[in-house]
Formats: sequence, C-alpha cells, structure tokens
Amino acid sequence: MRIINGIVIRQRDVGDNDKYADILTPEGVIEVLIKGVKKINSKTGSSSQLFAYSKFCINEKGERNILNSAEPIHIFYDLRNSLKKIALASYFADIIKYCVTDERRNSEVMRLFLNTLHFLEKDLRTYDFLKSLFELRFISEIGMMPYIIACAGCGSFEPDKVYFSIKNSNFYCSDCFMHSQNDYIIEGSLSFLRAVRHIVLSDFERLFNFRVSDNVQKTLSYFSEKYIIHHLEHKFNTLDFYKSIEDME
Ligand SMILES: [Zn+2]
Repeated sequence: MRIINGIVIRQRDVGDNDKYADILTPEGVIEVLIKGVKKINSKTGSSSQLFAYSKFCINEKGERNILNSAEPIHIFYDLRNSLKKIALASYFADIIKYCVTDERRNSEVMRLFLNTLHFLEKDLRTYDFLKSLFELRFISEIGMMPYIIACAGCGSFEPDKVYFSIKNSNFYCSDCFMHSQNDYIIEGSLSFLRAVRHIVLSDFERLFNFRVSDNVQKTLSYFSEKYIIHHLEHKFNTLDFYKSIEDME
C-alpha cells in the first residue's frame, strides 16, 4: 500500500465500470486503475475526478496501481463553473502528461500546476497572464529555459529593446541585432525581458507576485506560446480548443 498526494490530470473509461486516472505526484505521473466507478462511495468519487487534488491510497499489484481510497485535499470546484477555465487547465494538464516522464520528473511541476489552478480558479490573475507564466516556467522547470541573462552579442543586461529568437533561445540588443537575422522574430521592450526573467528565474514564493501592462502581456503571450510549442515539437489539441473558446468571446 502506498499513500501519496497528487492531482488527477486525465481520465479515461475502461469498460462500463472502471476507469484509469493519470495522477501528477511529486514523483511524476502515475497511472491508477479505479474499479467500480459507479459503486464507489461519493467521497472517493469526488476525490478522483479530474483536477481533484487528493491523498491517494494505492494498492500496487505487479505493474498495476489500483485505487484503494482517496481523501480530497482541494477539489477546485470553481474551475468547473467555466468552460474556459477547464479548457486552459486541460491544456496545462496535456503539456504535463506529454512531458513529465520517469526520467524527467520534477516535484516543482506539481507545485506550479496547483498554484496556477488556484489563481485561475479564484480569478486572481488574467487568463493570458497565467497561460504565459505556466508555459514559460514549466519549460524552464524541465530544463529548456530560454537564455535571458544578457545580449548574445555584447553581454548587455538591460538593453532598451530585445530581439529574441525562439529557435536559438537567446536575444540580441538593438546594437547587436542585424536585420538579416530572420530567426529573431520577437521584438520586445525591457519590461518584456524583465517579465520573462521573473517567470523563469524568480523563487517560487514570489513567482505570481508581479504585474505586466497590456502591451507587455501581448508580447509575452506571443512569445511564451511560440516558445513552448517550438521546443516541445508537439501540437496540443487542447490549445486549439482553448483558443476556439477565446474566439467565441
Ligand atoms: Zn548587444
């Protein structure tokens, strides 16, 4: 018997009565079989639904993990009131499921996901802000952070303007940038650079404690999405779905 805290990031039915849940834990993502879904008591039922953060009690039978019981810690009820919130959370879950493997696990990922869901659930930050923050911090946590310390040409720390390359993961200042460098497609201000630095480098305790102007957010949104999609080399259907909801607004 194993007891572990985790959050359900995906579920799928097995036959009429059982389901599999992918649960993100500090030790990575584990697949757990939940038997007799219809008969299960309501406490275990709500503790094992999508985006429930719970204490799971798991029987290990050979290669298989079978749920014994679960106690809710936080269910994120208010996420469920909004299709847009669920869509964004599903996109984050999709990224996690795609990237977090046994070889590449990181206990900070669960913390990042839980904190982002908290801010999303309670409307404490905008959707765009949380999406950029999650995308950039996540990719940094798994070791693919952009090089944002200084200009790749002259080493300047605080240039007025930056020209960032998604492909090369670095930037040039306006003195070093040559317009023939077609890879450097993202042009941003020093405030944009500071926002990226904050997301990538700040201590977890201060991670959500910053604000950006609408203009900086626009560049940040463009940058963070392009960056993660390019470096993961994967298309997420959940991102398309989230965007289709945005388009309806
Ligand atoms: Zn320079």
